Amino acid sequence: MKQAHNFNAGPCVLPKPAIESAIAAIRDFDNTGIGILEISHRSPGWERIMKETEQLWRELLNIPDDYAVLLLGGGASTQFFTVPANLLNKKAAYLQTGVWAKKAIKEAKFYGEVEIVASSEDKTYSYIPKGYKIPADADYFHITTNNTIYGTEIKEDIDSPVPLVADMSSDIMSRPVDVRKYALIYGGAQKNVGPAGVTFVIVRKDILGKVERKLQTMVDYRTHIGEEGKNSSMFNTPPVFSIFVMHETLKWVKEMGGVEAMNKINKEKAALLYEEIDRNSLFVGTAAKEDRSIMNVCFVMAPGKEALQDEFLNYAKERGMVGIKGHRSVGGFRASIYNACPVESVRALIACMQDFEKLHK
Ligand SMILES: *Cc1c(COP(=O)(O)O)cnc(C)c1O
Repeated sequence: MKQAHNFNAGPCVLPKPAIESAIAAIRDFDNTGIGILEISHRSPGWERIMKETEQLWRELLNIPDDYAVLLLGGGASTQFFTVPANLLNKKAAYLQTGVWAKKAIKEAKFYGEVEIVASSEDKTYSYIPKGYKIPADADYFHITTNNTIYGTEIKEDIDSPVPLVADMSSDIMSRPVDVRKYALIYGGAQKNVGPAGVTFVIVRKDILGKVERKLQTMVDYRTHIGEEGKNSSMFNTPPVFSIFVMHETLKWVKEMGGVEAMNKINKEKAALLYEEIDRNSLFVGTAAKEDRSIMNVCFVMAPGKEALQDEFLNYAKERGMVGIKGHRSVGGFRASIYNACPVESVRALIACMQDFEKLHK
């Protein structure tokens, strides 16, 4: 098979062992003689996978018992309206750090007043605003911890006087998180915890049921939790195969040593790549140094070298680099180096940048 270094932003690289188990499970799940795509989601074998997946989440992120862990369909984009539907009575506060945050803001406005406490749109979202004030009368404060398109990241769990809600689509499981500081955490799985098709929601149960509006059954988080947790994301058919691959991905994270270990490796990978960007005369990083993401590394050609952009893209492509073209709103390049991206791929990209520099000395 062709050797590729996968830097796609999502869906993206998954751990090899997770892929191998998925292939085997399609043929035969749990020694049943039936494949994972064909089993009933009410079968005992599947119920065990559901339980174990939730357990892995709880274990890896130290999620307390008063939080529910939900695995749903619809992607993070569905959470953009599900969150305000469940939590917004009068006013919500949002930090606008990128296009995903902006999309979340748009949906919240269907339900009430939205106060944008700060925005970095003035500089193409190349930094995380600081020194803003979170209004004490907001029903919640929403942040995007990692801005996938711009390569900026809020690396610490911030303190908020009102319930804190976080879109962690692209940095979940990349670092330890103090779940207690959040009322709700959500994201699409397809960046760091599995394939597309499943969305995680970690929610403190006591914040639910307080909005005045009536909620449709599927929009109400309490439906998916069920009385005394008995629905456990199985009110309707869950995305079985995606959750299976998530289960295998989380098992791999655990075997690697958990989120602390992942964080250490991620920091090392990111440091190697940023070091090369800062050293190499042909490239410059686009994100403010203190806010640089350890998941998505964005860079462009250095001033005066812009004409080389397409040539570098082709050069990198020939050497097996996949998915390094930057998002159209930033241009240049973006290397997404999620948990499952091996350090060898990062080294290969660095070697590619170094050799390209030699060609253009
Ligand atoms: C990818 C991404 C989304 C969108 O996720 P979908 O599952 O495609 O809806 C939202 N927020 C962030 C931060 C993302 O990276």
